[in-house]
Amino acid sequence: IRGTVAIVGRPNVGKSTIFNRLIGERKSIVDDTPGVTRDRIYGTVEWLTQSFHIIDTGGIQIEDQPFSEEINMQVDIAIEEADVIIFITSAKEGVMTDDMAIARKLQKSNKPVVLAVNKADNQELQMAVYEFYSLGLGDPMTISGAHGIGLGDLLDKVIELM
Ligand code: GDP
Ligand code: MG
Repeated sequence: IRGTVAIVGRPNVGKSTIFNRLIGERKSIVDDTPGVTRDRIYGTVEWLTQSFHIIDTGGIQIEDQPFSEEINMQVDIAIEEADVIIFITSAKEGVMTDDMAIARKLQKSNKPVVLAVNKADNQELQMAVYEFYSLGLGDPMTISGAHGIGLGDLLDKVIELM
């Protein structure tokens, strides 16, 4: 095992979808309470000859915190725990205020970050990648968690930075 990778990003950008694809299973943890399912948070990714731990910080919920404070804490956990951080954004929505706030925190941390623009399902949506250069985190990579596009390149980049 090489180390730990954390996934961060606003709600609904596709973190859980990508996490589930990367760990290669779709099971969610079933809570003791009937009818309650929770997202799985920890997993292991195997890629070529490498493997690493992965955390979906979006699944870490902090009770009674306002929404922006919750993301803040998730990013703090990622910075603390991870060797490399995957920052997921959405081609469908473009750069949002919360993306800028996350980007600023990640920049300050000096941790290696892979900026992924998810939901780039087609060529038109892939064009949205350019505005993400403004986040100041280097070259954004387009991916589609739903269609499994670009995930191999994403993993190559992660391994390169570990
Ligand atoms: P999370 O809140 O960041 O964990 O996001 P989820 O993984 O729960 O996904 C939020 C929604 O976006 C779901 O309806 C997914 O099916 C959808 N989604 C995830 N990845 C993609 C993608 O690549 N393309 C499209 N069009 N939808 C996606
Ligand atoms: Mg999720």
